Amino acid sequence: MPELPEVETAARDLAAQVIGRQIVAIEKLDWERMIETPTPAEFHALLPGRQIVAVGRRAKWLLLTLDAGWTLAIHLRMSGSVSVHPPDMPADVYTHLVLRLDDERRIFFHDTRKFGRVRLLDAAGLVLLDQRHGPEPLSETFTEEVLAALLRGRRAQLKPLLLNQAVLAGLGNIYVDESLWRARLHPLRLAASLTQREIAALYEAIRTVLTQAVQNKGSTLRDYRTGYGQSGENQHYFMVYGKTNVGQPCSRCGTAIVRLVVGQRGTHICPQCQQIYAGSTEPSGLDSPA
Ligand SMILES: [Zn+2]
Repeated sequence: MPELPEVETAARDLAAQVIGRQIVAIEKLDWERMIETPTPAEFHALLPGRQIVAVGRRAKWLLLTLDAGWTLAIHLRMSGSVSVHPPDMPADVYTHLVLRLDDERRIFFHDTRKFGRVRLLDAAGLVLLDQRHGPEPLSETFTEEVLAALLRGRRAQLKPLLLNQAVLAGLGNIYVDESLWRARLHPLRLAASLTQREIAALYEAIRTVLTQAVQNKGSTLRDYRTGYGQSGENQHYFMVYGKTNVGQPCSRCGTAIVRLVVGQRGTHICPQCQQIYAGSTEPSGLDSPA
């Protein structure tokens, strides 16, 4: 589940702790299938000795920019977290990658479910990774017009479309549900059917929900930890996600939150605030198919 806010938190926390440090050794790698590229043997040969010159994020990828043109890209997938620890901190059995730094601290990649993935990319590999993702929703260049252009003419339902990383980067199940609730949009609405006002509401919702989650250092449901090994706080601010379990009603209208399944994903909505044809008396036209 780590999504944009969790990976952004990890990137910021790592940036504050490891920029300028050298990776002197791969101290532990007990799950080689996590290394997607290059081969594990090449990974062992290429990584030690590299200096960390920057830490950032693209979509849900954590990116450690190394010297000599390499980038260590880590995807946390379902249950991963990356954090920095002092020399005397033992790695538990769920820590599958440990990188020793030149000041003896360690970077841990902890992943209970082992779905996380690591790539050591050259410049061309990094360009490819970048090109496979849509715009960054918190970037300055992501405007309401950019979102409108992404939705225009698309016959896809809103939720699966917003989950598609090639369309828009960084959103996952939690933050799509929260954004759609905030914008009062039903997840099954067709993207092309949104009015200008609804697009504006969705734009505001996505930016607000993600910004707030970054400020709260991400959401910890079970496994996610910040770059300092701590829990995030944003799970305390959910409006719909998981609220069917605790019986918490919609904070706007008091209606019970309901759970549906959209594209095989558990989806949480307020059935009063998020109606399929909200705001119009008839199904919104699919405008032009263009
Ligand atoms: Zn409501």
